[in-house]
Amino acid sequence: MRALRDRETFQREEVERLAPWAVPSSATQGRRVAEPEHPYRTAFQRDRDRIVHARAFRRLEYKTQVFVPHEGDHYRNRLTHTLETAQIARTIARALRLNEDLAEAVALAHDLGHTPFGHAGERALNQLMKGAGGFDHNRQTLRIVDWLEERERSFRGLNLCHETREGILKHGADFEHPVHLPRLEAQPSLEAQVADAADEIAYTNHDLDDGLRSRLVAAESLGELSLWAEARASIAERVAGASPRVVRAQTIRALIDRLASDLITASSVRLEAGTPHDVDAVRRAPERWIALSHPMARAFRELKLYLFENLYHHPRVVRMSERGEAVLRDLWHAYRSRPEELPRHIADRARLDGEERALADYLAGMTDRFALAEQQRLCGGAPVA
Ligand code: MG
Repeated sequence: MRALRDRETFQREEVERLAPWAVPSSATQGRRVAEPEHPYRTAFQRDRDRIVHARAFRRLEYKTQVFVPHEGDHYRNRLTHTLETAQIARTIARALRLNEDLAEAVALAHDLGHTPFGHAGERALNQLMKGAGGFDHNRQTLRIVDWLEERERSFRGLNLCHETREGILKHGADFEHPVHLPRLEAQPSLEAQVADAADEIAYTNHDLDDGLRSRLVAAESLGELSLWAEARASIAERVAGASPRVVRAQTIRALIDRLASDLITASSVRLEAGTPHDVDAVRRAPERWIALSHPMARAFRELKLYLFENLYHHPRVVRMSERGEAVLRDLWHAYRSRPEELPRHIADRARLDGEERALADYLAGMTDRFALAEQQRLCGGAPVA
C-alpha cells in the first residue's frame, strides 16, 4: 500500500466518487493567472487554504453577526458564523456526492466582504457610496479575493479558481471590477448552491439561539411556529428534566438537523428526477436544484419572518444597528475632510482606485472594535458602546 496520496490520486478519487453534475477539481476552468499545480492538494483545496490564510479572514472574528462583541463572549461573530456555514455545507455536499472542497471554499469566503456592524454597516456604506458605484458585501467579497489581498509579487488577489469566484459573486455583475469578472450563468454550480443554503440554515439557527440566550426572543413565544414545535416535540423525551440550556441546545441541534436533512433529501430527489447531464446543465436550469421541500420551505420562511419581526427589529438590535451606521458615517466624513489621517497604503490605493472606493474598502475592512477606536480618535465622540 502506498503511504502517500498525491493530487492525482485525489483527482482520480473525485471522478470516481462525485456525481456527474458535481465539479471535480480536475475540470476547473482555472485561475486568472496560470500557476503550477500543487503536488498533494487539489485546486479547490488550495483555494480553501488561501481563503483561511487571508488577512480578511482573520478580521471576521471581530465583526458583528447580530450582536456586537461587547454584548457577551458567547454570541456568534462572522468567523464562527462562517465556520458553522462551512461545516453544514460540507455535510450537505458530501451526502449529495458533490465536491466538498469547493463547497467549503465558497462557504469560508462568503462573508469576507462584510462591513463592521453587520448589515447596518453595509447600508450606511452603500448610502455614502451612492454617487461612486454603491456598496454590496458579495461584490466586496469578490473584490477582496481578486484585488485587495496582496500576497504575490506579480499579481494582486488570491488568484482563486473560476468556480470559487463564481460561487462568491452570487448575483448580477453590472459594476466595475478591477479584473475580469467570472462569467455568470442562470445558476452557479451545485457546490455554490449548497454553500448558499448552508449559510441560511446556519444564520437562522444561530441567530435564534443567540436571540434566546440574550432573552430578546422568548422561548414561550416560539410555540406557534411549526418548525420549532416539531423540533421541540422530537426531543421531548431526551430532554425531560433537563436544564433550559440543554433544552435550547438540543432544540437548535434538532432544527439544524431537520433543515439539513430535508435539504439533502429534497435536492437528491430533484437531481435524480432531472438528471442534469453535467455542471453546464446545472448552470442553465431556470431554478436552483439545491432547495428545501415545499412544506419545509414554508415552515422555514415562517421562522425567518418571526426572527425578522422579533429579533432583527427588536429595539435593542435596532439601536445597535443605528449606532453602527453612525460610526461609519462619522468615519467617512472625518477621513474625507482629513485624508492625511488615512494610512499610507490606503492613500496610495486612492490614486489607483479613486478616493471614494479606496475609503470604502478601508472602512469595509475594519473590525467593529477598530472602527470604534478610530471614531473615538478622529471624532472624539463618546464611546458608541
Ligand atoms: Mg453569511
